[in-house]
Amino acid sequence: MSFEQLGLSAELLRAVSDQGYAKPTLIQEQAIPIILKNNDVMGGAQTGTGKTASFTLPMLQKLETFANSSMSPARHPIRALILVPTRELAVQVHESVKTYGKYSVIRSTVIYGGVNIDAQIEAVRSGIEILVATPGRLLDHLQQKTLSLAKVEILILDEADRMLDMGFLPAIRQIIDLLPEKRQNLMFSATFSDEIKKLANKILVNPVLIEVAKQNSVSELITHIVHPVESAHKHELLNYLIKQHALKQVLVFTRTKIAADRVAQKLERTGILTAAIHGDRNQLQRTQALENFKQGQISVLVATDVAARGIDIEELTHVINFELPNNPEDYIHRIGRTGRAGAKGLAISLVSKEEDKLLAGVEKLLNNKISVEEISGFESKKSPSVSAKNASYSDEKKNKRIQSGVPKRNSDSVVRISNDVFLRKSKRAEKTSDPLFTQPYVSKHMDMHMAHVGGNQTDRTLNHHCRHKQSKALPALFLSPVTNKQK
Ligand code: AMP
Repeated sequence: MSFEQLGLSAELLRAVSDQGYAKPTLIQEQAIPIILKNNDVMGGAQTGTGKTASFTLPMLQKLETFANSSMSPARHPIRALILVPTRELAVQVHESVKTYGKYSVIRSTVIYGGVNIDAQIEAVRSGIEILVATPGRLLDHLQQKTLSLAKVEILILDEADRMLDMGFLPAIRQIIDLLPEKRQNLMFSATFSDEIKKLANKILVNPVLIEVAKQNSVSELITHIVHPVESAHKHELLNYLIKQHALKQVLVFTRTKIAADRVAQKLERTGILTAAIHGDRNQLQRTQALENFKQGQISVLVATDVAARGIDIEELTHVINFELPNNPEDYIHRIGRTGRAGAKGLAISLVSKEEDKLLAGVEKLLNNKISVEEISGFESKKSPSVSAKNASYSDEKKNKRIQSGVPKRNSDSVVRISNDVFLRKSKRAEKTSDPLFTQPYVSKHMDMHMAHVGGNQTDRTLNHHCRHKQSKALPALFLSPVTNKQK
């Protein structure tokens, strides 16, 4: 997708192009159109994902209707408020506002503590449409009545989790009480603590949830395991793992279409209901296979990397790499199908000695060694790298075991993957009771939401009450990590 397709104005596109950005990042791709449509957004994103532009660009576009060159401060009331936890972030976000708004006459300023307030008062008094502020200093201004928030239409909370960690919740509450009821709210947070959810529930109305992982980041909820095995024995090992642990829903990855078909056929022959999706299957076949998988009519879906792009399966507990991908980044895409929405996940890789290099590439990208566990009867003929690895990072493995709950290997060298890990085998990951992840997509309720956007206080209150009652809770919008920095 290109920036042009996001519905941004020519001025903003020019400013973006000046930055040399080739294409939008995932969060920009998702958030910009949603924000332009006036929806509230809950964004799960860290610094490094391009999140600042994801809210700054549509904010600037929406404020463009108020752009004017009048000298009168009264013609420049604050229309957008961006709250951030620290002075550094305030300055950085304001820089972005200036960068992306450089072809607009929309005015902005930044206020934060630790510096004399007078210059800030001057800047605010001259009239600005966008205010970037830390909560404490904004309260100082409000107490001194040096600014008014009565015309704010867009509220953005950036790094909300950090703001709460820093004790800004009371200040945020006070600030919110001073804002007009009718406004658009955008909240970004890298984590979803209970406090964040409470705050989100208080502020956001029918939010669209967007979550992206930082470049190459991997959920800490995923346990990674490598089972060394001869290539020729991979089919049997896969079969063993699925049957032994009665896995009911597992996504298996292969490198090639031929391998995907072969894996599916072999599993089918042993009575495991399986389907394969890859480039040679038409859209209908792929959709059908995916639907059957989601409905639990088949237990195993075998996919190639390309075919798996964009697959969103709720609460998948296991991903098995029948073969490691040629491109280490695909490993992150693959395993990103599990460990979602707060549920734990297990990423198993069947690795033959021919794949040692691929494994090294994955570990380099993860910046971590993956636990190696041999399974009795399937041991690889001494792969030097595996045995060396076992010797060299035994301490690290011990730590990982403690973290992942995988018990120490038995003396007979048979791996007993902890029950804890495989207890999750047959039941799908525990349903999250987290309202942030079970709230409906706004798009399903667009009419109601739009009523609110153009509506009055009653609409808003109604929506607040309705959102927990709407019939079918749909999963949040989860995206796979940004693959590379698209600069
Ligand atoms: P942020 O996550 O907002 O802190 O942005 C991280 C970095 O990504 C900043 O240096 C931005 O300039 C840069 N950035 C933002 N959007 C893009 C894009 N579409 N392509 C490349 N770099 C970007």
